[in-house]
Parts: sequence; C-alpha cells; structure tokens
Amino acid sequence: MKIAIIGAGISGITIALELQKFAEVKIFEKSRGVGGRMSTRYNEDFAFDHGAQCFTARTKVFQKFLQPFIVSEDVLPWTGKAVNIDIDGKVSPRFWFETHLVAAPNMNSLCKKMAIGLDISTSVEVAPIVKKDDLWNLKDINGNDLGNFDFVISTAPQVQTKNLFGESFKIKEVSMQPCFALMLGFKEKWQFDWIFAKVRNNPIKLIALNSSKPKRNSEVTSLVIHSRSSWSKENLDNNLEEITQVLTDNLKKITGIDANKADYKSIHRWKYALVDEEKSEIFLDKNLKIAATSDWVTNSRIEDVWLMAKKLSESLIEK
Ligand SMILES: Cc1cc2nc3c(=O)[nH]c(=O)nc-3n(C[C@H](O)[C@H](O)[C@H](O)COP(=O)(O)OP(=O)(O)OC[C@H]3O[C@@H](n4cnc5c(N)ncnc54)[C@H](O)[C@@H]3O)c2cc1C
Repeated sequence: MKIAIIGAGISGITIALELQKFAEVKIFEKSRGVGGRMSTRYNEDFAFDHGAQCFTARTKVFQKFLQPFIVSEDVLPWTGKAVNIDIDGKVSPRFWFETHLVAAPNMNSLCKKMAIGLDISTSVEVAPIVKKDDLWNLKDINGNDLGNFDFVISTAPQVQTKNLFGESFKIKEVSMQPCFALMLGFKEKWQFDWIFAKVRNNPIKLIALNSSKPKRNSEVTSLVIHSRSSWSKENLDNNLEEITQVLTDNLKKITGIDANKADYKSIHRWKYALVDEEKSEIFLDKNLKIAATSDWVTNSRIEDVWLMAKKLSESLIEK
C-alpha cells in the first residue's frame, strides 16, 4: 500500500508516523523545510517563530506524546511576565494559567525531530490530483510526475485542499483568518520586563519576545508582532510595505519601540493562519481512498490538530 501525504506540518508528520507501520508513506511539502505553520525564519543574528508562538497540553494523550521531547529538552516551558497593552500604551498584568510550551531551539524543531527517518520531498508543490484506474496520480505544479499512490491525504489548509481534490469532493467551506507577522531584530538586549504582550484595540494583536524563549539567543532582541485578524482581513491584499508601516507606527505609539532602528526587519503574510468560528470535519472516503485533516476540522490549537491527525490515522488503520 502506497500513501501520499501532502504537507509536512504537525498533521502530516503525525499521520506519516502512524501509517508507516502499515504502508509505504511519502510526504510532499511545498516549502523548503518541515513545520508548516510551526515554522521559524532565520537570519545570521536572529530567529523568529513567525507562525505559532507556543502551545498548551490539556489532554493526557498529548502530554504523554510530549513527555520524551520534554525529557530531551526539545520542548520546554516558556516563562516570563505576560502583559496587556492598551491603545494608550498602558501596561497591565496578564496571567498565564497554563504552562506555555515551545519547541527548542526553534518552533520548527519539534516537527524536525519527529520527521527523522520519514520519506519527505520538500520544495515540491503538488498540483490537483487525478485518479487513473484505481490509483491516484500525483504531479507537481510544473507537471513532473510524483508517482502513483493507493491513498492520498491532504493536510493543507481547507481552500488549498479543495483545489487539490477538486470540486466533486464535498468539503465544507470554512473561513480562515489571515495574519501578518512582522519580525524585528535588534542587536542589543531587550529593555522591558515583559516577554509577551496582548494588545487591545489595535491592528497589532500580540508582541512576542522570541529571544526570551528557551535555547534562543537572549543577547539580542528578536520580536514577532502579529496583526489582529479583523484588521488583517480588511488589509489582506495591501502591499507589505504599507502593512509594515501601519504595524511599526502602532508599535512605536504603544511601546516606544522604533522599528527604524531595527538591524533586521521582515514581514510574512499568513493567508490561512487560524480557523474562524465554524469548523468542518475530518474528510475521509475509504472507497475513493482519499482523506484530509488540519486545523479546519477542529480549531487552530496545535494539540487539537495533533489529536485530529491521530484520529484520522486510527480510522484508517481500523478494519
Ligand atoms: C500566525 C499564527 C499563529 C498561531 N498561533 C498558534 C499558537 O500560539 N498556538 C497554537 O496552538 N497554534 C497556533 N497556530 C496554529 C497552528 O500553527 C496550526 O494549527 C498548526 O500548525 C497546523 O498544522 P498542520 O500540519 O495541520 O497545517 P500546516 O502547518 O499549515 O501544514 C500544512 C503544510 O502543507 C503544505 N502544503 C500546502 N499545500 C501544498 C501543496 N499543494 N503541495 C505540497 N505541500 C503543500 C504547506 O506548505 C504546509 O507546510 C498559529 C498559526 C499561525 C499561522
């Protein structure tokens, strides 16, 4: 049995680890590396987890899965002072009632560790798939043949999965929230006493001091600034220079941080960052041998996405 998985984020890697016990599994990933939305951007001096910032572990099964990674210090708690910042720059305490975990030394490290030994082709964007006789034929977007497979599983965002599978598959429409991630690097140490800020009533949603996470270089300041979903939706197609300007102006207004003094500045547009309220459900057609899962079948918490990937794998394995 040959299975193709589209996407090497936490979902795709989790499914591959489960199914490789029973089948020949191949993952195709369009980016240069693994991790998907749990990814990290590097520069000579700075590193930025520009997607997911951290995660929590509420279920016993996810805690058990994480345990070896915690022991090996590939996953560690992120500790420090969290605050709220108001539109006028007023800072007030914010309480983290749960342990906030991060992968170390970077957010993509967990997926990298999990992926050891898996068969993954990166920098390969899969084109819409076609059934030939009883097999799925996969090609990349340049028309190169990627082989024939008995089963195909997509872990791409819902709109992209629909494009890959075609309209004949009835996958419920789910609206996703976009997000801009502004990354600022300063060669000097951080001056404030907080490491995470939730910002109220502003195009900025949060400010995360990436360099305060465990196993990062805390001699420099690496900041990740996420835009608010509603604002991002309204401004999704604006050019990135304009977006950067609005975010840096607001950052200066509420914190005094001057992005013009940054030694590194870059921005990333996440078109499909987080699931809106309404969700779909795991897509599985055992007759046509096609399936899909990701955050759009649950919510965007990494733990829940992982649970759904496990659930899909289990329903494929059961007779
Ligand atoms: C800005 C942001 C902030 C977030 N914050 C948090 C947080 O703090 N806590 C939390 O728990 N979660 C957070 N999340 C959500 C979390 O990151 C995701 O829910 C989770 O990582 C999704 O994993 P996945 O493997 O299902 O999908 P993804 O990580 O999106 O993986 C899908 C992969 O499929 C690949 N792909 C797509 N189409 C193709 C194709 N045609 N061919 C080949 N490959 C393809 C993509 O490149 C991608 O790597 C955040 C996400 C974002 C973007």
